[in-house]
Amino acid sequence: MRPDLETMLEHEYDDECPVCRTQDVVEWALIPAASAWEVANGLPRFAIALHGAAGLLGALLREGMPRKELDTALSGLLDEMEQHIAEEGAIGGPPQGNA
Ligand SMILES: [Zn+2]
Repeated sequence: MRPDLETMLEHEYDDECPVCRTQDVVEWALIPAASAWEVANGLPRFAIALHGAAGLLGALLREGMPRKELDTALSGLLDEMEQHIAEEGAIGGPPQGNA
């Protein structure tokens, strides 16, 4: 059965939202773990981030997800992320600051 991208993309901004909770897991657990793995194995910074993301998305391709739908979904998520980063900048810089 094909994964339902719409359900995974639509979200509301509250504590119960599965999309927000997924983003929290990535930010608080996966990114630090990938970073530690890169350092421990002498890999270039963000090597795991890039290839890990591609590998994980490859699992969707294997499930029969059309590449075009995946491209569109990913592009939308990156748009959202850029907007979020811009908003953080407007508020006064990213949280791990240069104070
Ligand atoms: Zn949400």
